[in-house]
Amino acid sequence: MASNYQAVEHYRGDAAALTRQFLTLLDESAALQRRAGVDRVTFRWQWDGDIAHDAHAQAIARAHEARPDILGWLYTRRFDLVHRLRIGDEPPENLAVFLSVDRWNATKARKVADRYPWVRLAFCGESWNECREIARGMEVARGLRCPELVGRIPLVTDDGRGACTACSYCLPTTRGHVAFSTTKGKA
Ligand code: SF4
Repeated sequence: MASNYQAVEHYRGDAAALTRQFLTLLDESAALQRRAGVDRVTFRWQWDGDIAHDAHAQAIARAHEARPDILGWLYTRRFDLVHRLRIGDEPPENLAVFLSVDRWNATKARKVADRYPWVRLAFCGESWNECREIARGMEVARGLRCPELVGRIPLVTDDGRGACTACSYCLPTTRGHVAFSTTKGKA
């Protein structure tokens, strides 16, 4: 994670150069997936960590704009950079943007979601009930409980595919919110 951060930090202020790097990344990932027989290529940004700066957000958006066949999504707490994920008024159609919302940033998330209605919400709580309460405070439905956390699908299948490939709910092809509970199966 530290080396990833440093790699991205190197391109602070140079979205064009970082876009080229991300295109290489997307193309390599797509080639791997296609070789493995995946017909719908996906890319989940930031397994951990977050968007670091303006150029980082812009490069993600531009890379997806240039690769419309790759469906991507990300979760972010950098609400101040969400607008940089747009190409024009909205992000590219093949990029889903989730605000990671917890009890501490819900008020701010509400303002951002009101301003940018294309964002989706990822409710993060210590329990499903907490996720529901956060959503209720924002006057929206909690959305899907992540099926990997519920235990309906494995984190990685026997053939090496990740849960998100099997589930695909967070892809830009759907529109709903999602909930993540750190205590998984508990209420
Ligand atoms: S809801 Fe589905 S796509 Fe979203 S994080 Fe969970 S397993 Fe992955």
